[in-house]
Amino acid sequence: MAFDLIIDGVRRQTAAHTDVKNPSTGAVAGRMPMATTQDLDDAIAAAARAFKTWSQTSDAERQAACHAIAAKIEAHAEELARLITAEQGKQLNGLGSRFEVGGTAAWTHATADMQLPVSVLQDNEQGRIELHRKPIGVIGSITPWNWPMLIGSWHIIPAVRTGNTVVIKPSPYTPLSTIRMVELMNEVLPPGVVNVVSGDDALGAALSSHPGIAKMVFTGSTATGRKIMASAAPTLKRITLELGGNDAGVVLPDADPKAIAPDLFWGAFINGGQTCAALKRLYVHDSIYEQVCNELVAFASTVPMGDGLDENNQLGPIQNAMQFKRVVELVEEAKQAGGRILCGGAPLAGNGYFYPITFVADVQEGIRLVDEEQFGPALPIIRYTDVEDAMRRANDNPMGLGGSVWSSDAAKAKVLAQRLECGTAWVNKHGGIQPNAPFGGVKQSGIGVEFSEEGLKEYTTVQTVYC
Ligand code: NAD
Repeated sequence: MAFDLIIDGVRRQTAAHTDVKNPSTGAVAGRMPMATTQDLDDAIAAAARAFKTWSQTSDAERQAACHAIAAKIEAHAEELARLITAEQGKQLNGLGSRFEVGGTAAWTHATADMQLPVSVLQDNEQGRIELHRKPIGVIGSITPWNWPMLIGSWHIIPAVRTGNTVVIKPSPYTPLSTIRMVELMNEVLPPGVVNVVSGDDALGAALSSHPGIAKMVFTGSTATGRKIMASAAPTLKRITLELGGNDAGVVLPDADPKAIAPDLFWGAFINGGQTCAALKRLYVHDSIYEQVCNELVAFASTVPMGDGLDENNQLGPIQNAMQFKRVVELVEEAKQAGGRILCGGAPLAGNGYFYPITFVADVQEGIRLVDEEQFGPALPIIRYTDVEDAMRRANDNPMGLGGSVWSSDAAKAKVLAQRLECGTAWVNKHGGIQPNAPFGGVKQSGIGVEFSEEGLKEYTTVQTVYC
């Protein structure tokens, strides 16, 4: 299948392309069109033209369009899932690419159904005051490589639902499913409402600093998030930043190791740990430490990893060479620091960026595997003896995306979970998100939220009308 830019509702071929490779095999999944700065200018100009009419459409019209997009995605679900697996590597089944496509459609329907009605702040003899929400303009979107289609839809759909137009630049590692998704959206939407340009990081910098962009929505690393924020300053662009995390989980002494092991495992290793709000540091009380370690290792042995296109697999490879190298390095450093490898601990032989599920016990803060986001299939398990000490250490990190507390006493765990310095706190689970609940980071994990009416509001400006 050929992939082209989509600008103003039509495919645009580029002179240059870059191969996108399947991380399971190294085979070419497709060729990414390399947009020029002229293509970028044209896409933003098309979105600006489309904004004039799209922003004036009725709420019902935009709602219907979003439902129609979801229906298109559903009709092409298997094609899209296979494309995601081919470029991203994740397996088709379990929490893999079919789950990603299903989530995209479900989220799109849910967002379509949300409303931001005019609210009346005052209506009396002194006068009437209404609060209106208006679209902002052309939204620039930049996405990462871990959940390419789902995250792309999280940027596009609320923007379009509220009357904005979009230029999206997907990650150069995983551009193909986004291009195809935007192509399908263009079967439903008027020309120019959603445009896609693909290319390298420099194209992202050109998009985020472009004066024609009214708001940037970015999901990716904290390092890039800082650059986006800086590039927004000259024209005072609005921003939503969904950045990295280093989520802590605190297992209390009264937790049941066997019962919590599967949820701990998937909390940490959904998408092979390449998930922003995955569990990335596990604090376990000394009294049940070895039991929790043993249960996690036992559960890990039941989860097959391999080529994403193999229907039996429940985990795939690390997505790219850079990330693979990072995981290898962080685990080696942890070993040097005295970390005990409970399972895994070295790359798997053969083609592909396969690194096995790895638990590293007997480590603590001061090494990168604990202090930084690993974004891969290696989890440090940290021993503690005092709950207050564990809470302090869990919070002693610049990131603040998610966190969890695990206990047989859910009420006690909830009190502690609320003390975690993070945007989402879970009790006896980790990482689950829903379209009707806001999601976003505190501290250096981001600015703003996505999902729910709170997320929708981020694509609007307030107009107060005295009438
Ligand atoms: P990344 O920051 O390297 O790249 C993300 C995107 O930014 C890519 O499209 C890239 O081309 C672009 N980019 C790179 N340099 C740029 C620049 N100077 N200006 C503008 N754009 C630029 O991140 P990644 O490696 O693709 O993704 C992994 C990171 O994303 C992890 O830190 C993860 O936690 C984070 N993430 C966060 C969330 C969330 O919701 N908080 C979700 C998924 C991933």
